Amino acid sequence: MQIAFIGLGHMGAPMAINLHKAGHSVKAFDLSPDACAQVKAQGLQVATSAQDAVQGAEAIVSMLPASAHVEGLYLGSDRAPALLPHIAKGALVIDSSTIAAATSQKVARALDAAGIAFIDAPVSGGTGGAIAGTLTFMVGGTDAHLERARPLLEKMGTNIFHAGSVGAGQTAKICNNMLLGILMAGTSEAIALGVANGLDPTVLSEIMRRSSGGNWALEKYNPYPGVHENAPASKGYAGGFGTDLMLKDLGLSQENATAVKASTPLGGLARAIYAAHSIAGHGGEDFSSVIKMLQKKG
Ligand code: NAD
Repeated sequence: MQIAFIGLGHMGAPMAINLHKAGHSVKAFDLSPDACAQVKAQGLQVATSAQDAVQGAEAIVSMLPASAHVEGLYLGSDRAPALLPHIAKGALVIDSSTIAAATSQKVARALDAAGIAFIDAPVSGGTGGAIAGTLTFMVGGTDAHLERARPLLEKMGTNIFHAGSVGAGQTAKICNNMLLGILMAGTSEAIALGVANGLDPTVLSEIMRRSSGGNWALEKYNPYPGVHENAPASKGYAGGFGTDLMLKDLGLSQENATAVKASTPLGGLARAIYAAHSIAGHGGEDFSSVIKMLQKKG
């Protein structure tokens, strides 16, 4: 299948590479020349623009930072014209970015009016899951559109959930990421407490992993350097899931909670913690670096 892939960052690049390895013809594009060069080195075709990427594409996958990027790409902005008129009627758009459900619905309505199918399909599983092709997809859209997308999603992930109509994938994703933000801050706090008492972080992490505090951070993504060799914490908090992206997601969950009058006090506290961490200069580091603000200095 001819696929356009737009957004080749930490997540998009390995996802596009997996579609390519599965035998699809992938034409990829990113505003960053370095990101384009990285996938070109893996044998993917690189487009000169988003318009070039979608020429002849039966499916378009986008993996962009936030709502404004997705709306700007498909519907246009002050900076760039809309991609929508360049997409073939009957094509399928899969947006895997984590964005506001309302933005997914707005883009879906505009595409639908032009005869183009849309699903929101945000992911969980981190960069490790993107590389291994074991992501979890949370899909919003019709059954028919999901079934069209499924063969592609299966090349990038192992768990595919249908959350509901367009936007529902995004709602599931912000619930998950609100929990992730809280559990990473909580796990960091517990490890920092143990270390302040002289405990070995690896031993303490293993005790908690096998006890009632066990969670995903303790399994795969320990915030303390050296505990998990492949976690961002052991690589100077480079790569992974940026603090500012977590802050964006916690903003989305708090906005949503306000809209539906839900009580999310820990989500609100987590947002404040990551905001302070970002302002302290850690916005570009992996979000597990939040442990730095909870550790005893010296
Ligand atoms: P990233 O910042 O590494 O990559 C985003 C890429 O989009 C960049 O390379 C940027 O140049 C490109 N881009 C922005 N606007 C563009 C445009 N108009 N046209 C083409 N390219 C454009 O971000 P990421 O970590 O890959 O995350 C992408 C999305 O996935 C975010 O919404 C994030 O919240 C979500 N997500 C990330 C992770 C993770 O672990 N990193 C996990 C799950 C979900």
